[in-house]
Amino acid sequence: MSDNEYVKIFTCPKCGKRLSIDASKQFTAGRCPSCKKRIKIPKADGQK
Ligand SMILES: [Zn+2]
Repeated sequence: MSDNEYVKIFTCPKCGKRLSIDASKQFTAGRCPSCKKRIKIPKADGQK
């Protein structure tokens, strides 16, 4: 709760690449740096 850097690990559904996203920005969509596909990123909602 005192972390000011909150990084979430997200797996690209297209290519399976693991991505680390900055959850503090609270974006819900982005582009995979590996396959360049647009992907939806699930919001952090109390889940680990
Ligand atoms: Zn990908």
